[in-house]
Amino acid sequence: MLSVLALPAFQDNYIWLLAGADGAAVVVDPGDAAPVLAAAERGLRPVAVLITHHHADHVGGVDALLARFAVPCYGPDDPRIPAAATRVGDGDRVPVPELGLDFDVMAVPGHTRSHLAFHGAGHLFCGDTLFSLGCGRLFEGTPAQMLASLDRFAALPDDTLVCCTHEYTAANGRFACVAEPDNPVRDARLAEVRAQRGRGEPSLPTTLASERACNPFLRIDEPGVRTTLSARLGHAPRDRTEAFAELRAWKDGFAG
Ligand code: ZN
Ligand code: FE
Repeated sequence: MLSVLALPAFQDNYIWLLAGADGAAVVVDPGDAAPVLAAAERGLRPVAVLITHHHADHVGGVDALLARFAVPCYGPDDPRIPAAATRVGDGDRVPVPELGLDFDVMAVPGHTRSHLAFHGAGHLFCGDTLFSLGCGRLFEGTPAQMLASLDRFAALPDDTLVCCTHEYTAANGRFACVAEPDNPVRDARLAEVRAQRGRGEPSLPTTLASERACNPFLRIDEPGVRTTLSARLGHAPRDRTEAFAELRAWKDGFAG
């Protein structure tokens, strides 16, 4: 039986651990080694490290962790990724024999040009590509690339557990309410998020079914989102890429 654990780091990061019953655990995006070392003190045993992208809050603890645990590490083929990582790319499989599972590697450019996601055993580790009720900023990619990446996620099964790297859900929800005013399922999800955060719990993982029902960035074809985008553009979006680009640009400037 697998369990998934979100270790808080920095202001709003999570370092995800996917662990088996014996404590063997895959570590995803260890921006800081300290929370992982503390988890190891409590009995978790890192058996592999996965890296989604090169940003410091995702790779900052990799070298220290690998110095302590001689385990395989997998990440994008990008010179900005720690040298110890084995380079993987779209369509590759990352084996984790200690947990009896493989991850499928997905290239999901948009937030960065070499961003990867790892999908296995019903879990999606998507880094800064998809957030609950939101998506990553476009630092290096185009709207069309990010849209294609999100479309690939949206095609995964309903019960996929989406493990995002940041606790942005409540803030994303404020924008979602403006982008798509009438969405009672989203309103119920936001009420749940506020309760979770009030108890000091993560709002994650979320499910793909929930994101498809609530996240405006996965709902650019829905009439409610199209209506607000048309009002902003002064015309109906010409295509999905224009709709997505406008939604992302709107969120970038949203103070709400
Ligand atoms: Zn990032
Ligand atoms: Fe990040």
